[in-house]
Amino acid sequence: MATLRDLVDARVREGDLYEKLDRQRVRCFACGHCCPVPEGQPGVCKVRYNRGGTLYVPWGYVGGVQCDPIEKKPFFHAYPGALAYSFGMLGCDLHCAYCQNWVTSQALRDPQAISPPMEATPSALVQDALRQGAQVLVSTYNEPLITAEWAVAIFREAKAAGLVTGFVSNGNGTPQVLEYLRPWIDLYKVDLKSFDDHHYRKLGGRLQPILDTIRALHQMGLWVEIVTLLIPGFNDSDEELRRLTQFLADVSPDIPWHVTAFHQDYKMNDPANTRPRDLLRAAAIARESGLRYIYAGNLPGRVGDLEDTRCHQCAKPLIRRFGYSIEEYLITPEGRCSGCGAAVPGRWAASFEGQLTHQPFLPHRRQPLVTIHTRR
Ligand code: SF4
Repeated sequence: MATLRDLVDARVREGDLYEKLDRQRVRCFACGHCCPVPEGQPGVCKVRYNRGGTLYVPWGYVGGVQCDPIEKKPFFHAYPGALAYSFGMLGCDLHCAYCQNWVTSQALRDPQAISPPMEATPSALVQDALRQGAQVLVSTYNEPLITAEWAVAIFREAKAAGLVTGFVSNGNGTPQVLEYLRPWIDLYKVDLKSFDDHHYRKLGGRLQPILDTIRALHQMGLWVEIVTLLIPGFNDSDEELRRLTQFLADVSPDIPWHVTAFHQDYKMNDPANTRPRDLLRAAAIARESGLRYIYAGNLPGRVGDLEDTRCHQCAKPLIRRFGYSIEEYLITPEGRCSGCGAAVPGRWAASFEGQLTHQPFLPHRRQPLVTIHTRR
């Protein structure tokens, strides 16, 4: 039986996002590391590698699929109530100690992360999504930028079938990968983990490529929402939160910011879990910075009205939520406040037809994707 490494190395094709260098080296542009990769070696992500001066990239499998309410991604200003069919591959360009998707993201670095992949084709995934009633197809779980070629192959089929497409990403992009994705992607969630470059280096990245990506995505006209997991003692000082939210407000005060509660996970078991009052403090700072749509996540029913969408002009509640559940929806078919008529930024369906699910679930497949068994 093949190992996970053998299996991943065999499911590849030549990448689009690279250039050839001298001495059979290549430079990859799929993420902000821009690795110069020597012949015979993988990049930092461990899933893109150089063989004979050609960059090979992941192809033909998924590490997992799940159906979620779009609110779980979280997108709060994009097709509320829609079912999002999520897929991921394996690997990541960062190594966050608190990763909540570590079983897939760290599968090639951590022997404890066991996640048998499944054979897949773009059309099988799109058909599976349609059968479940999904309106949105999302690349998530691992870092989707490092598997951008595979995502685009799926998104091409998804758009032809009328689906909305999106990334849930750490935002460590490059101009090349964003241009490559641009024709095929509608929604983009960036996990802005900190506003301190030293903190980012502990996670294996740098702050500046993420900030550049957020600005570029907004300028490209994609719908962007930002999430920050608030970790006590790591990224929750007033000063860091002020700089982070001022940056977002400078890009656009209409960008929704989700500040979510940390719970101990993976290798990060020292910080205390985030309390409701920590989220309320962060939200107050964001409001002072000028952001208009601020949401507190992961503590349903314990954060006042910070799960709801209010009109920025007249303050009327327009979407009431409890966790991922929508309890009331009062946005007009034109995407406006039903009180004062102000436009609400986002991507809105012509009518709200209820929520397909407020619970994540595994898709019920008539023709299952085939699990590939591996040994360590
Ligand atoms: S995706 Fe990022 S980490 Fe992986 S090889 Fe390319 S530049 Fe390096």
